[in-house]
Amino acid sequence: MNHSDWLARSRAAVWHPCTQMKFHETGVLPLIPIARGQGAWLYDFEDRRYLDAISSWWVNLFGHAHPRINAAIKDQLDRLEHVILAGFTHAPVVELSERLSALTGKMLGHCFYASDGSSAVEIALKMSFHYWRNHGRPEKNQFLCLTGSYHGETLGTLSVGDVDLYREAYGPLLRQAITVPSPDARLAEYGETAADVAQRAAAGLEAALAAHHASVAALIVEPLVQGAGGMVMYDPEYLRLACALCDRYNVHLIADEIMVGFGRTGTLFAHEQADIRPDFLCLSKGLTGGYLPLSVVLTTDAVYAAFYDDALTRGFLHSHSYTGNPLACRAALATLDLFAEEAVLERNRQFAERFTGLLTPLAKHRQARHFRHCGMIWAVDIATDDPEFRLRFYREALHREILLRPLGKTIYFMPPYILDEAEAALLAERAVAALDAALA
Ligand SMILES: *Cc1c(COP(=O)(O)O)cnc(C)c1O
Repeated sequence: MNHSDWLARSRAAVWHPCTQMKFHETGVLPLIPIARGQGAWLYDFEDRRYLDAISSWWVNLFGHAHPRINAAIKDQLDRLEHVILAGFTHAPVVELSERLSALTGKMLGHCFYASDGSSAVEIALKMSFHYWRNHGRPEKNQFLCLTGSYHGETLGTLSVGDVDLYREAYGPLLRQAITVPSPDARLAEYGETAADVAQRAAAGLEAALAAHHASVAALIVEPLVQGAGGMVMYDPEYLRLACALCDRYNVHLIADEIMVGFGRTGTLFAHEQADIRPDFLCLSKGLTGGYLPLSVVLTTDAVYAAFYDDALTRGFLHSHSYTGNPLACRAALATLDLFAEEAVLERNRQFAERFTGLLTPLAKHRQARHFRHCGMIWAVDIATDDPEFRLRFYREALHREILLRPLGKTIYFMPPYILDEAEAALLAERAVAALDAALA
């Protein structure tokens, strides 16, 4: 089978996500069949290569075909590929749960698994509501979310989301959460710091809590970076204030670290930078190093205790067929081994300093606005009226062997943690060239 055969067959048989399929037919949007991956690179069937600068939708941490993760999965495959997790357990899921709990300083034990990020958010929402119900407070059944937030695209997660592109068509199906102001650092007025914006947003949160706390189960946030909403970055001060307010008003705090977890913001978990403890921590994406679908919700002893009872119906009733899949757990354990054995966060800090320097021409581009950076995420808004900018830039980047998918007019970089000097330089240079071409 060659390149164009796979294209034609995919167009006919596969309904691709987040895609207007007609664009593939008309060629406005290229469709690229990938034959293999190695390190930061993806290769098509004609051996053209693409630098995966968005970590294959934010999941990949240590590159494609990593020998350690590959070996762990192969080893597990010959032992146990899967077993039901109701009434049964297995070594990889036990070890993973213990290690994740240890990584939160044992503040959050009790790992509840699912297979994707959206399901983890659904679980956290249901658990929070059910906790209050078990405590005789069933009226606490609403949620607070930030403007511009993204927590997935199932009906429950769209309800706590605020990105119109994904939500608008399905509005009639949703029970919309109450939105509170985003602490988006770009909102700083002259002379204001990001911490000032955080305080203003927290005042908005306090007003919403004062009005609605009796009917609110939880506030859900993406700590430090609001991803799909446009790589919106904000000061940790907001998380400190929000956590204190949630405590004061008896409302849970759900930290959706599906994108920002596992070192993306510079610390293993983003909420560490605010020195807070959420009631629920949702993880997925990088959890398996980008190999297999797995997600988990970690929660506190207090939440766990609210479900521990003689009655079945006071228990948390939620089930997914592939809950705690052993192969995925082994990929996650191998990923945690890499964090434990290599100085990943320190290496990333050094890389980030150099890469930020390499991006100076982009940051200083005449049409660049609000260049920003947090850990291993970089973003910049492009001042253009061209509604086609996103597609134009995407195509120009691909022509230059770079995979970058702007969010609207925001170009962002979220590379795997393994770029060498040459790859970093190539990425930075070609991104500017692609920008100039897209704007020409
Ligand atoms: C990607 C993402 C999700 C949804 O995860 P899926 O695995 O795509 O369902 C939820 N929250 C955040 C912050 C995400 O970035």
